Amino acid sequence: FQVPIAVNEPVKGYAPGSPEREAVAAAYTTLLNTHTEVPMYINGQEVRTGNTRTMSPPHDHKHIVGEYHLAEKSHVETAIAGALEARTAWAELPWEQRAGIFLKAAELIAGPYRARINAATMIAQSKTVQQAEIDAACELIDFLRFNVQFMTDIYNEQPESTSDAWNRLEYRPLEGFIYAITPFNFTAIAANLPASCAMMGNVVVWKPSDSQMLSAKIILDIFREAGVPDGVIQVVHGDPVMITDTILASPDFSGLHFTGSTHVFKDLWAKIGSNIHNYKTYPRIVGETGGKDFIVAHPSAKADQVATAIVRGAFEFQGQKCSAASRAYIPESLWPAVKEQVIKDVSSFKMGSPEDMSNFITAVIHEGSFDKLASYIDQAKADADAEIIVGGGYDKSKGYFIEPTVIVAKDPKYKTMCTELFGPVMTIYVYEDADWSATLKLVDETSEYALTGAILSTDRYAIQEATKALQNAAGNFYINDKPTGAVVGQQPFGGARASGTNDKAGSALNLLRWVSPRMIKETF
Ligand code: GLU
Repeated sequence: FQVPIAVNEPVKGYAPGSPEREAVAAAYTTLLNTHTEVPMYINGQEVRTGNTRTMSPPHDHKHIVGEYHLAEKSHVETAIAGALEARTAWAELPWEQRAGIFLKAAELIAGPYRARINAATMIAQSKTVQQAEIDAACELIDFLRFNVQFMTDIYNEQPESTSDAWNRLEYRPLEGFIYAITPFNFTAIAANLPASCAMMGNVVVWKPSDSQMLSAKIILDIFREAGVPDGVIQVVHGDPVMITDTILASPDFSGLHFTGSTHVFKDLWAKIGSNIHNYKTYPRIVGETGGKDFIVAHPSAKADQVATAIVRGAFEFQGQKCSAASRAYIPESLWPAVKEQVIKDVSSFKMGSPEDMSNFITAVIHEGSFDKLASYIDQAKADADAEIIVGGGYDKSKGYFIEPTVIVAKDPKYKTMCTELFGPVMTIYVYEDADWSATLKLVDETSEYALTGAILSTDRYAIQEATKALQNAAGNFYINDKPTGAVVGQQPFGGARASGTNDKAGSALNLLRWVSPRMIKETF
């Protein structure tokens, strides 16, 4: 079987006056001024409980754009039961029919839903139009298209047969249902976690992030229109502890597809462990969690390239990427030039609502995140071993705005060099040129997380040394680039240590976790 060859969706430019800019601006205005109700979605029915929470844009937190309904335990139980009922028909549907649904979803996003899903992502998650386009349109389309291609490769991968032994691998979906818990920071990830499991024939109970509900609703609208059958992707919202405990208590729970924080993932793993005797099968656990991603420059690196890697790696998407650069190690000889350019570039950023499409920095996701970031900034202002060289301001009167901030630390183990902050704060340590090898060792030793990292150098010996020394410090390792922006179909994404199970999103490696192959040998 052949499927359409996957190609990366081209990123639209949104230049002033362009049709895409006008379309997204109109969709933004409509969504901003409509009271959107987000019901749950169980067994093909919209479920309203009347128990609701409001939704507001992070950049304008007093403005209410709608509300979403919260589940009771019985709704979660109904969602599980309905998913299990839908399972047989879905699992037996030939995979090319399932592929057809997700290819159609990709085309719906590329065309009629593009402006709407981008606008929802701008409002709900405070992304600029370019960030929304890269995430909610292009990356999501790429996930759907490429996963269909990877899925084809998997199903076509068969063992050798002989004239008297016909060997066939049957890639069965997992027996039971999968629980997908998705993050706020990427609309693409929110859609991909349930979709990738469903594509492989599984049924899914999906709990989107409370901070992403507006765009989660559009994802569901797209899945429905594309033809995902009733019960295959069930959506529940509300108290995460109640939902999780109800789901993990089911003997049919067979997998967790998670992106979110390290501590939540560890708690989930522990709960799954404590329930292990109740399950019919060993659940698959796949998680992408935190990061404390590094940039290390060698004295041979080009200062302007280093500064660009820092500025783009740390501040695009408000630093709210698992992959965002948040610590950098710069040699003394390069530092004056790097510092000058970083300060110049960061000072030129415009911050404000994504509605004004000339803004480059918007708000962080919610008050909890704002308060945490502001407190680390305050500590850096007070600490003698830290200096803020640009930024340091914050204001939550209208939205949760944190100025892009660069801290220079005198101690390479200063708290913001080691703690994940998940926001627009970068900490830099300046090392003596002669300490290059010792610095690599230090970076590895302080990498509790191991998601992404970048080294910059024009010296091949140094590149080789760093590649080896940091072998386990990053699952996505960049040479002479920023450590962000993995493209589906080009750089499968994921990391180990406290960053996750490294089941590479956007690759066959991930999809393989959602099947349980049966080997069939037939003799004649
Ligand atoms: N895949 C994204 C990147 O490479 C990051 C995803 C995330 O933040 O979880 O930048």
